[in-house]
Order: sequence, then C-alpha cells, then structure tokens
Amino acid sequence: MRSAGELVVDRRVRAAEIGRFCSHIVCGPTASDCDIWTGAIGADGYGRFYLTREGAGLCVRPHRYALAIASGVVAAGVLGLHECDNPVCVKIADATEPHQHVVSGTQGDNMERMARMRRGGGRHAMRRFDSRGVRRARSVALREAVRYGWDTAAVQAALLGDQPTLW
Ligand SMILES: [Zn+2]
Repeated sequence: MRSAGELVVDRRVRAAEIGRFCSHIVCGPTASDCDIWTGAIGADGYGRFYLTREGAGLCVRPHRYALAIASGVVAAGVLGLHECDNPVCVKIADATEPHQHVVSGTQGDNMERMARMRRGGGRHAMRRFDSRGVRRARSVALREAVRYGWDTAAVQAALLGDQPTLW
C-alpha cells in the first residue's frame, strides 16, 4: 500500500471522490466522539479507501485521506496519527479542541507518541498492546455498531468488546 506517498486531494477536482469517501463515515455527536469509517477494513484493523490517480488504482488509509481533504495535500512520509487510539476514526478536530483525533506526524512522532502513551497517557490506556487481530475485531465491531447511524451504547460496547463483563 502506497499510503506514505504524497496524497493530493483537490476539493474541486475530487468532489465525487470526496462524496464517496464521506458516504462511508458515521459522525459522532460530540467533539470527543470519533467519526467512524464504515468502508473496507484491512487485516491490520485500519480502513481502506480505493481511488484512482493518473489512471492507476490506489489504496489509502481513510484517516490519511481525511487529512488530505482538510489540507489539500499530505506530503510523502507524513502519516495520520490517532490521538484517540481508534484506527477507524477519520475525525480532524480543530487545533483548539481539547479532544484531538487524527493529527499529522512522521513515523518518528508516532514512535514518540507510543512511548508517551505506554508511560500512562491517553484515554484508552488498556489498549496499548492490542494485537492486529484484536484491533481488527474492534474496528469491525465499531462498523457494525454504527451501521444504522450513531448508537452511543453500541459504540461503547464495541470499544470495550474484549473486556470482561462487569455484571
Ligand atoms: Zn477519534
């Protein structure tokens, strides 16, 4: 997947493509809620969005595509990082918002962020070491939870899906 190549999304030229992208998103009602990708999900638990550039098919990560819509271009080597720790979130929050979701950064930023969270930050601290399989199962469960629109109880259940039941 060429997800770390330069990604350009011109809003005027790509209106139809952006419309197709947005048709796969269910938005959470508050600033702290994620906007959830409901399209294809890969084995790694991250979304997949297929598009065409210069006649060739291309597969990108939806959260990185969301960054490209917001800024017009995402440079090669720049990644979308999830401050909300939800791989299928595509929300780009205003920089002044206390609840951040997808932010841009380098692989180095990502390593630093992982180390910081391992030391005990973040909102979902128990999830730091999820395996690919667990992550994919949670992403698929989230997609199911919003299939008919945002459902707060179903979303919470999906986020806590692999936790023991407390009653
Ligand atoms: Zn989020």
